Amino acid sequence: MEPMEIRIVMPFDPAFHDPGSVAATERCCSQHGKDYCDQPPVASVHYPPNGRVSACARALRGIIDDALKKFPQQQ
Ligand SMILES: [Zn+2]
Repeated sequence: MEPMEIRIVMPFDPAFHDPGSVAATERCCSQHGKDYCDQPPVASVHYPPNGRVSACARALRGIIDDALKKFPQQQ
């Protein structure tokens, strides 16, 4: 895996996350944080430098927008 590679796993997979993380144990949206987001995660994302995060639909859209900036289409 490239150091800055963004990898999106759908659907959300608790096993993708660190067993002790809130994403795995509470199945919440860790991209926004469980105290700030009550939406269920739809995807698991390897999202450097944050590491592995769970993302609700809104968080996933933000990650994709960021990914498109980081990895522009090659001509
Ligand atoms: Zn969220």
